[in-house]
Amino acid sequence: MENQPRPLNITEIFHSIQGEGFHAGTSAIFIRGTGCNLACDFCDTDFSPRERLAPLEIADRIASFPCRFVVLTGGEPTIQAPGFRALVDILHARGYYVTLETNGSSPDTLGADWVTVSPKLSQKGKWVLKRAQELKLVYESQELGFYEDSEFDHYFLQPKEIRTAPWGGGERDVARTRAEWDKTAKAVMAHPRWKLSIQLHKELGVR
Ligand code: SF4
Repeated sequence: MENQPRPLNITEIFHSIQGEGFHAGTSAIFIRGTGCNLACDFCDTDFSPRERLAPLEIADRIASFPCRFVVLTGGEPTIQAPGFRALVDILHARGYYVTLETNGSSPDTLGADWVTVSPKLSQKGKWVLKRAQELKLVYESQELGFYEDSEFDHYFLQPKEIRTAPWGGGERDVARTRAEWDKTAKAVMAHPRWKLSIQLHKELGVR
């Protein structure tokens, strides 16, 4: 029996290609919860709440997509943990594989099958979730050894995209973004435990 519905603040739901990390290139349904407990200066996430939906409504809405791979993202999904947990239960009952993208400031993995943690320590975010499938860092020349004191199956470094306006506005600054790519590639070559994650969806021009 499916769980009782519990409303979630949702910014958007769409079907696209997972562009980052281990599952890059995978057809995926994105469910973006509204809001975050951090405020990173490079954040390009739209936080406007567009809908308040019960988990069952979300599951019914995505049923027509020819895809059974879901990405719960935000914002930070764990700030709406009860609703997302109920959603994960429903999706599992319907045969979906559920992945979670979190900043790791909560130990809660919402019952997801695969968890990607992206700690944001530069914004004083406390990092408590240190064991999961995937660690993904936006590379800012951090001391990588600090992050290796953890238990992840995969470690990814991702270059920053530099925009011509703050908060993800304007256009890509091609030269400065290229410099970030080069810097991150060099870091990966110097620290082979880490792999490079490029935001493939942006290169493809999809969401
Ligand atoms: S943790 Fe992620 S979603 Fe939250 S403010 Fe930082 S970049 Fe944006």
